[in-house]
Amino acid sequence: MTTRQPYLSARLQGFGTTIFTEMTRLAIEHDALNLGQGFPDFDGPESVKEAAIEAIRAGHNQYCRMAGIGPLVEAIAAHQRRFYDLRYDPLSEITVYSGATEAIFAVLQAICEVGDEVVLFEPYYDSYRASVSMAGATPRLVTLRPPDFSYDPAELEAAITPRTRAILLNTPHNPSGKVFGRAELEHIAALCKERGILAITDEVYEHLVYDGEHVPLATLPGMQERTIVISSAGKTFSFTGWKIGWTCAPPAISAALRCAHQFITFCTANPFQHAIAHALGLGDDFYSELVSDYRRRRDRLCAGLARAGFDVLTPAGTYFALTDIRPLGFADDVEFCRALPERVGVAAIPPSVFYEGRHEGRHLVRWAFCKSDPILDGAIERLQRLRPAGDAAR
Ligand code: PMP
Ligand code: GLN
Repeated sequence: MTTRQPYLSARLQGFGTTIFTEMTRLAIEHDALNLGQGFPDFDGPESVKEAAIEAIRAGHNQYCRMAGIGPLVEAIAAHQRRFYDLRYDPLSEITVYSGATEAIFAVLQAICEVGDEVVLFEPYYDSYRASVSMAGATPRLVTLRPPDFSYDPAELEAAITPRTRAILLNTPHNPSGKVFGRAELEHIAALCKERGILAITDEVYEHLVYDGEHVPLATLPGMQERTIVISSAGKTFSFTGWKIGWTCAPPAISAALRCAHQFITFCTANPFQHAIAHALGLGDDFYSELVSDYRRRRDRLCAGLARAGFDVLTPAGTYFALTDIRPLGFADDVEFCRALPERVGVAAIPPSVFYEGRHEGRHLVRWAFCKSDPILDGAIERLQRLRPAGDAAR
C-alpha cells in the first residue's frame, strides 16, 4: 500500500490492487472455496438470460440512449413506485450506468468541486474512497462500530463542515450487513436539510434484507429533492458481470450526473439493459423467494461459522457475514485472509482495508454466502481445521 508507484497520479497513490482481486487470485492459485469476492456462483433467472439473448438477436447491439434505454428507465421508475412509492420521471430523473461502480464515480465527479468534502461511513465499499479522491475531494470518515455498527451522532455532526458537499450512505451495508434504522435515517436526513448538503445512497442490496426493512432515505420528508439514489441489478438478479446500474435524482441533479456519465462510458451495454428491464418487472414471487433463499444461505453459513469457533455477527441484510476471529486465537484479519487459502483452502475478505485507520476492523473477517450449498458446506468443513487442534498450523 505504501510503495510509491512511478506512473500513478497522486490522486491514486496508495490504492494498490483491490482486495477483491487479491483474494480471488489467491483463491484460484490455491484452488480454494471462494467466500471472498461477492458474486453468486449461480446464475439469475432463465427468463432474464433469454431476454438478453433475445435482445441481441433482435439487433439491440449498437450505441443506445446515453441516459438509458426507454424500457429500462420506465422499469426503474415502476420499481421505485412499486416498492417504495417514490415517483421519478423516467426521462429526466433516471440515468443508467455500467454498474453502481460507475454511478458512484460519475456522481462524485459531477457534484464535487476540488477541495470539497464527502462524508463516508467506515467500513466503506472500497470504490467510494478512490472515487472521492479521483474527484479531487476529501473524505471525512464516521466510524460504524460493532456489534450493531451504529455511529456516534456527535461524530457525524462534527464530520460535517462548510466544505461538505454530500453524505454517502450505504444501506443495507457492505461489509457489516447492517440495515440502517429509521431513527438513524431521520438524524442523517435532518443534518442534510439543516446543513444544505446532498445525500448519496448506495442501495445495491435493497432486496437482500432478512431482519427489519429497507427504508430508502429518499422516502423521508424533504429528502427526495436532495438525494441521489444509486442501485444496480447485479445483486438482485445474480448477474454481477452484466454491470447495469442506475441513479434516481431530481432533474437538475440528473442533468449534472449525465454530464459526467456521457464522458465516462456514454452509454451502457444495450442488450443487457433490455434484459434488466424485463427482470425488474418479475413478479412478487421472485423477490420474496430471493429473500427466503438468501436467508436460508445466511443461516447455513452463520451456523457453520459458529460451529467452526468464530463469534458470528449475524447480518440483517446483504449477502455477507462478519465474524470475530479472536476466539480462534487470531488477531489480524489481513494476515489471516492472506494465509487462509493455502492453509485450509477457503478465501475471505479482511474488512480492515475498508477503514481509514486499519486497526478498527482487524479482528473481523467477511464471508460471502451468495454461494451454493456444497461450497458453503465444504468451506465450513475446511474451516474446522482452524480449531485449537490445528494450533500447529498457525
Ligand atoms: N456498492 C456496494 C456497496 C457494493 O457492494 C458493490 C459491489 N458489488 C457495488 C456498489 C458495485 O456494484 P456494481 O457491480 O453494480 O458496480
Ligand atoms: N461488491 C463485491 C464485494 O463486496 C465486489 C465487487 C468487486 O470485486 N469490485 O465483494
